[in-house]
Amino acid sequence: MVFDAIVVGLGAVGSAALYQLSKQTPNVLGIDQFEPPHSLGSTHSDSRITRQAIGEGIYFVPLALRSYEIWRELEQRTGEQLLTITGGLFVGKENSTLQTHNKPGWLTTTLQAAEQFKIAHQVLDADRLRKRFPQFQFLDDDIGYFEEDAGFLRPEVCVSVQLAQARQNGASVQVNERMLSFESVGTMVRVQTERAVYQTRKLVLTSGPWIAESLRDSPYRNLLKVYRQVQYWFDIQGDYPLYTPDHMPVYILSDRDLYGFPAIGGVAGGLKDSNRTIRADDHAGYRKPNN
Ligand SMILES: Cc1cc2nc3c(=O)[nH]c(=O)nc-3n(C[C@H](O)[C@H](O)[C@H](O)COP(=O)(O)OP(=O)(O)OC[C@H]3O[C@@H](n4cnc5c(N)ncnc54)[C@H](O)[C@@H]3O)c2cc1C
Repeated sequence: MVFDAIVVGLGAVGSAALYQLSKQTPNVLGIDQFEPPHSLGSTHSDSRITRQAIGEGIYFVPLALRSYEIWRELEQRTGEQLLTITGGLFVGKENSTLQTHNKPGWLTTTLQAAEQFKIAHQVLDADRLRKRFPQFQFLDDDIGYFEEDAGFLRPEVCVSVQLAQARQNGASVQVNERMLSFESVGTMVRVQTERAVYQTRKLVLTSGPWIAESLRDSPYRNLLKVYRQVQYWFDIQGDYPLYTPDHMPVYILSDRDLYGFPAIGGVAGGLKDSNRTIRADDHAGYRKPNN
């Protein structure tokens, strides 16, 4: 059988690609070496920040805005809660050129993106930040960009519902099946897995941190290094309701290379922070996530 498209890797990116492709044609196949959602890739865990004014590049904004439509469409169709709006507080220094997510001037670009796309937001100085967000300690020269519709997604549920919807649209999904190699044969692509050989008109490679392995014959594989992101869950000491999603936004403290979430897992869930990226082969100790 010849597929119109094969998607290899069904994490956040591949499950979304397969779902969208399956709306156009049922003749698509998704393949994963494990059974997504699983705990071994980038999409593992219970929360991911999402936002609309993208400081990493204004060209991402239309994609981010479209993703909000898709999450709401999926929620309506499935009854699952995927996107929770908490507001997003992004703090830095005015006109700072420090890098966040490898982008110098990230906060300035975030503001420009919000202005350009009329994304609802407020800009707050340190005094206003302190009054409005007592959960944080601010510096006198901090400025805050507060985006009203930022929030967090449930990444593993997002994967599950998109794969279920893709299947419902007629897509085939093969799990626990690893792609070994692929090659172009005329206008087709031949995909070899542990179990079978498939033919496809288009191949979508969404193998995330395994991408260098997927591209093993490509010179680009050497450009890619996998880093592990370490996360921490802090116990809340003090006024617990202040740290719940009703009262606390998701946040990125851009000049401190720190981002996190309110306590979304109940008292035991604590407050989730992430502030280091380390090479995947650096096995420094870390506290195991509990949500
Ligand atoms: C700790 C952490 C926190 C993050 N926080 C945020 C955040 O707050 N907001 C945000 O927007 N982003 C965040 N990200 C980034 C975001 O989670 C990732 O960009 C996203 O999950 C990437 O998904 P993916 O589909 O590319 O990769 P993955 O989820 O890793 O999926 C790749 C899939 O490919 C499969 N695969 C690989 N090789 C093969 C093969 N040969 N054959 C078959 N299958 C294969 C794997 O099994 C896997 O299922 C965070 C990432 C991490 C790690």
